[in-house]
Amino acid sequence: MTGLFSFASKQRVVASRILMAIVAGVFFCAVFSSLCLAVSSAAVTSPSDKGFLRIYFIDAEGGQATLFVTPEKQSLLIDTGWPGYDGRDANRIVSATKEAGISKIDYVLITHFHEDHVGGAPQLAARIPIGTFIDHGENRESTDKPTMQVWQAYQQLMSTRKYKHIVAKPGDALPILGMRATIVSADGAVLSDPLPGAGGENSSCKNAEQYPADQTENRRSVGTLITFGKLRILDLGDLTKDEEMQLMCPKNKLGKIDIYIVSHHGWVQSSSPALVYGIAPRVAIMDNGAKKGGTPSVWDIIEKSPGLENLWQLHFSEEGGPAHNVPAEFIANPEGPDAGNYLELTAQPDGSFEVFNSRTQKTQPYPAK
Ligand SMILES: [Zn+2]
Repeated sequence: MTGLFSFASKQRVVASRILMAIVAGVFFCAVFSSLCLAVSSAAVTSPSDKGFLRIYFIDAEGGQATLFVTPEKQSLLIDTGWPGYDGRDANRIVSATKEAGISKIDYVLITHFHEDHVGGAPQLAARIPIGTFIDHGENRESTDKPTMQVWQAYQQLMSTRKYKHIVAKPGDALPILGMRATIVSADGAVLSDPLPGAGGENSSCKNAEQYPADQTENRRSVGTLITFGKLRILDLGDLTKDEEMQLMCPKNKLGKIDIYIVSHHGWVQSSSPALVYGIAPRVAIMDNGAKKGGTPSVWDIIEKSPGLENLWQLHFSEEGGPAHNVPAEFIANPEGPDAGNYLELTAQPDGSFEVFNSRTQKTQPYPAK
């Protein structure tokens, strides 16, 4: 319930800011009447009204649930968090949809069939209408019992025939109004050709390690590159380093990225130097839990990345300790009882964006470059 409280208190802050702006505008008009029209029209067309992409990084306690809402109010949810916990993760996703002003999720993309990604799908579907599910096809990890359980529950959900279904392939563009979402990896395959504007040599490939082929669902992850105007956002689910090399070496098929949703919750199996230094993000956001994700060597790689302005975390990581965790203002959930705080990124087509921490109620702006 704390998540709901946080959403409400943010709305109060926004409302009080608007009220202050109006009061200031009225005073200004009384003193400088010739400029009054300009002030009132600026107040009416506040940039918070339209033209924004909103991204909610929902706390799934070390799982993933990231909601994108376009200016046209179309929505894409990448992953549904964990099963169980009385629908905790599904409830948090529904709270985010309310904050975003939507009553349906158009597309739910399941990166892969591990329980921290697809596990919450049945609980979510019981709480909010969903249009289309997108995934990589078949579960490839039939030896893992928890994976088989959530896969079967997902299959049962699909068998109701209430939903459209897309099996994603690298190079596909998802039919979402207001942003471009291109599939860059799925079911172990990656883009065969660089994306437009990408394809340069990646200098971080020279001394790169050789990574063994991952045998789990992680390397099957559906990876998506989202562009909104000039802004580029990368979400590779739990894609492993062996697959990252296919995308990034010797040619960088993705190009530079503004916002990197840190793969695999910041665990060591993902985020090779070839990926991170090749995409050179301005901001990285890690969807780790207190006890899940966040390997010290991954922090070191991300924080040395050229051009990185900030790394944000959904949780303080016990493994990272004070030496590796970022300063508290960049953490949604510090040590202590489970609070379910979220991060919200609001972007404009010119490439500028801001990150709001629902715990601190503070916003960090990032001007267009
Ligand atoms: Zn995961």
